[in-house]
Amino acid sequence: MSLNRREFLATSAVTGLAAVLPGAAWAASGAEPARKAVLKLSCQEGVAPGRDLGEKLDLLEKWGFEGIEPHGRGLADRIGEFQNALRGRRIRVSAVCAGFEGVPISSDPEEREKARKSIKELLEVAGALGATGLIVVPAFNRQPAMPHQEARQFLVEDFLPDVGEHAHKHGTRVLLEPLNRREAYFLRLVADAAAICRDSGSPGVACMGDFWHMTWEETSDLGAFISGGAYLHHVHIASRKRRKMPGEDEGDDYVLGFRGLKWIGYQDFVSFECGSEGDKMQTIPAAVKLLREQWRRA
Ligand code: MG
Repeated sequence: MSLNRREFLATSAVTGLAAVLPGAAWAASGAEPARKAVLKLSCQEGVAPGRDLGEKLDLLEKWGFEGIEPHGRGLADRIGEFQNALRGRRIRVSAVCAGFEGVPISSDPEEREKARKSIKELLEVAGALGATGLIVVPAFNRQPAMPHQEARQFLVEDFLPDVGEHAHKHGTRVLLEPLNRREAYFLRLVADAAAICRDSGSPGVACMGDFWHMTWEETSDLGAFISGGAYLHHVHIASRKRRKMPGEDEGDDYVLGFRGLKWIGYQDFVSFECGSEGDKMQTIPAAVKLLREQWRRA
């Protein structure tokens, strides 16, 4: 195996870290290096081509996907449709992407309560569909929010333990998603999301990483996923410069991120959240091939 200098240094850094951290401290970091990771690909329902859900699932299955990620809006009325369409297939619902009302850390208490109620309802839907979790962004930049310190305290002491318990009861999770600074200032790093999960103290609170946002915020894909550790339960993927299909931007590279996922023994999905420059009938299977090849190299 040949390693370029960047990969060699990254590998050395991880090996070195494991050498200096005693077992208990390493375990406390949330990583589970002993577990063998899997690459399970998922695609957002809106990204997959096809006239209806059945046709989308046929294509995704043919291309080797194991998950589909629906948007949360209106999903409560579609539980039966999904259950019927997925019967007898290898593919399952990976995660539910947002779709709730209100804003978890809004400066307006009414908006916060609306979010609490709406997220709990969607967690029941996510649980019924067997999803790993419901994706939640605490607040976008355009939404008036509480001051940062107050927002974090409210999340870890009040909001997340409450919705997290509801999630756990329904066999699913809240998945906090860090975004890039153009979209959200409150939560931008996977490590920060994981620390919020830890401090909320609820088994129903987890986080995710999105390669697209990570391009602009993280200094290391490898470090980011390792910092997510056992709290990391979903990943979004897109091309790195324009958020198109993986492989459509020059130099699209996920190897170090995948190495991080391998390091933590990642068991959940890597889900396509992206546009496409070319015809999806070609660009999606090409992306699958690229990702499988990069996973092997990681
Ligand atoms: Mg995303």
